Amino acid sequence: MSKITIAIDGYSSCGKSTLAKALASHLHYTYVDSGAMYRCVTLYALRKGVIKDGSFIPDEVIKLLSEIKLHFEFNSQTKTSETFMNGEHVEKDIRQMIVSENVSRISAIHEVRVQMIALQREMGKNKGIVMDGRDIGSNVFPDAELKVFMTSDTDVRTQRRYDEYKAKGQNVAFSDVKANLLSRDYVDTHRKEDPLIQAKDAIVLDNTELSREQQLEFVVKLVHDLTPYNIDR
Ligand code: C5P
Repeated sequence: MSKITIAIDGYSSCGKSTLAKALASHLHYTYVDSGAMYRCVTLYALRKGVIKDGSFIPDEVIKLLSEIKLHFEFNSQTKTSETFMNGEHVEKDIRQMIVSENVSRISAIHEVRVQMIALQREMGKNKGIVMDGRDIGSNVFPDAELKVFMTSDTDVRTQRRYDEYKAKGQNVAFSDVKANLLSRDYVDTHRKEDPLIQAKDAIVLDNTELSREQQLEFVVKLVHDLTPYNIDR
């Protein structure tokens, strides 16, 4: 019985990771958060002082790439895979607002994308993977058997992300969170290389009014409908 590749793309803070994690756990698949990888590069560049006051020289970011080693580890307590950079658990640090403010411009650098995409393809080579991001169905795994494109009302997305920041004790204004989402969506959809687009064969999931359980039910049904693949469970 063969496993499949599942790509989940969409706008910022649509709940892609939440759904992708739940689906991977349901199917006993590997979950990979591709956005976390771009966030790690951004965090590293911030720590090295290469990003200063929101500005950077792309060549200086490119030089750092050989120093960054990324891996994911499954945490059996939280039941999610967590991000490590050079052996350090960075799950919390990569979610800071300062990282969100810079990540879309860092991820538009060609060499950054080449390196991250190579790693993503390596992680997905044996299938049995759910990966979320912006270009997974359109570019990283164009042959993925299932592609989902998520969208959601902007205020609903902002509220969800705002609640996450608050829960983590980060003091942010609702208007700043909204501005950040909109600006990332703009940069992600307008960049030259691998922009955020809906793959032609992707199935749209607007989750504005759907609970987490309803979203999971929707995608699990899609997986089961792919009967020729005899999904491993
Ligand atoms: O998914 P998340 O919001 O954590 O992603 C952070 C940023 O990483 C996105 O705004 C986007 O600029 C970039 N990204 C990307 N390609 C992906 C995933 C994320 O360019 N596949």
